[in-house]
Amino acid sequence: MDKQLLYNAVEAKASALTALSDEIWEYAELSMQEHRSAAAHIALLKAEGFQVEENLCGIPTAFLGRYGSGKPVIGILGEYDALSGLSQVPGCTQKQPLIPGGNGQGCGHHLLGAASIGAAIAVKEQIAAGNLCGTVVFYGCPGEEGCAGKTFMARDGMFRDLDAALSWHPDDVNEVTTGSNAACIQMEYTFTGTAAHAAGDPEHGRSALDAAELMNVGVQFLREHMSKACSIHYSILDGGGVSPNVVQPTAKLMYMVRGNNVRSAKALLARVDKVAQGAAIMTETTYTCRQIDGTSDTVSNTVLEKLLYENLQQAPLPTYTAEEEAFAAALKETFGETRVPGVGCNFDRVVKAKVSKLTDGGKLPLNNFIMPYVPTNYMSPGSTDVGDVSWLTPTAQFNAVTWVSGSPGHSWQNVSTGKTSIAHKGMLFAAKVLAAATADLMESPEILAAAREEFNLTTAEGYDCPITKEVTF
Ligand SMILES: [Zn+2]
Ligand SMILES: [Zn+2]
Repeated sequence: MDKQLLYNAVEAKASALTALSDEIWEYAELSMQEHRSAAAHIALLKAEGFQVEENLCGIPTAFLGRYGSGKPVIGILGEYDALSGLSQVPGCTQKQPLIPGGNGQGCGHHLLGAASIGAAIAVKEQIAAGNLCGTVVFYGCPGEEGCAGKTFMARDGMFRDLDAALSWHPDDVNEVTTGSNAACIQMEYTFTGTAAHAAGDPEHGRSALDAAELMNVGVQFLREHMSKACSIHYSILDGGGVSPNVVQPTAKLMYMVRGNNVRSAKALLARVDKVAQGAAIMTETTYTCRQIDGTSDTVSNTVLEKLLYENLQQAPLPTYTAEEEAFAAALKETFGETRVPGVGCNFDRVVKAKVSKLTDGGKLPLNNFIMPYVPTNYMSPGSTDVGDVSWLTPTAQFNAVTWVSGSPGHSWQNVSTGKTSIAHKGMLFAAKVLAAATADLMESPEILAAAREEFNLTTAEGYDCPITKEVTF
């Protein structure tokens, strides 16, 4: 079909999609608390004639909107959660909270949801017009930042029936996402001891705080003896009370264990458990642990990645006004070091040189070009719950420019840019690419068959869900 029809459909909805993304930016709701954000998406889906299913898998802010009938069934993933402490005045080139201590859309998920829903609406219109056959499903996926909502949805049976899933993420470059992400498991450890007067009756006290400290020290020693591909992060949730003259009877730690795949993350976690056990034995305390969430490594699909790359090149790239360029240049001044994009990619010297030239050595404020696509085995050290979807159906993602080049992740600068015309243009561009790629999948059974063949090979060992069935969000 003529993709211009899809681009036009997105443009026709530009004001509604921009308003939706701005509304979600304003709400800036944290993981699993995105009630108003979910309601805004659901209202739009219903107004557009989608069949909506709410409260998916018992998660109040998870939902889907379905349109069309029969095969193929293509899923488009959306997110909308924000991050704490990142409130920021929009369009401002200095750090200035809008609400002191408030939340902010530092990862751009307000744009992520709006573009994905925009793509689903554009595809819906072409199904209704008889130009496309199949079913499009928009998934409202909550809690990407703090809870891995998609993993809970994957564990409880979602995504498996799809022929393919597509998503995107706001970024400072236009590029196909390739390679993989680390698998990750998050676990809370609670130590319980016996309170006592720290000076008057120390022999009767058993310190949970000591246990927590010994666990942290034990894990520091463990780090030398684990695979370089793994990593461990931790935080202290509760050190007991605030009085030093009390032997602390409770203490709580949060651990995050990452590996190349779920198997290696689980194996490393078993060793962390032993350290906790040892700390409890040493201090004559007890401990319990509770899994918080988990994400799988991402399985890339080169067939779908190539399709996204073609569609990134075909869709009209945003152009920027002098005013937008000036804002970007001023904001860029706050980043410190200049960075040439594509640091994590497996680019050879020639491609690296080309990217460096395109970006003027990373000095270009807005990267208004498409990065070369080089399939890679690169393992990104971060994690995403899109990984869990990618074990259940062929999945691919891309990034689109919504931020200033070099903007740090989860930053006030991203929040500041997230409500500007720069971000809106990137969001609409992403919607067009997603819609056009979905149309290709609906029209080309051979692409879906090739994607499925690759998926069957790369996921032959089967989905090993990183969370147990007991874990609740
Ligand atoms: Zn994020
Ligand atoms: Zn994100």
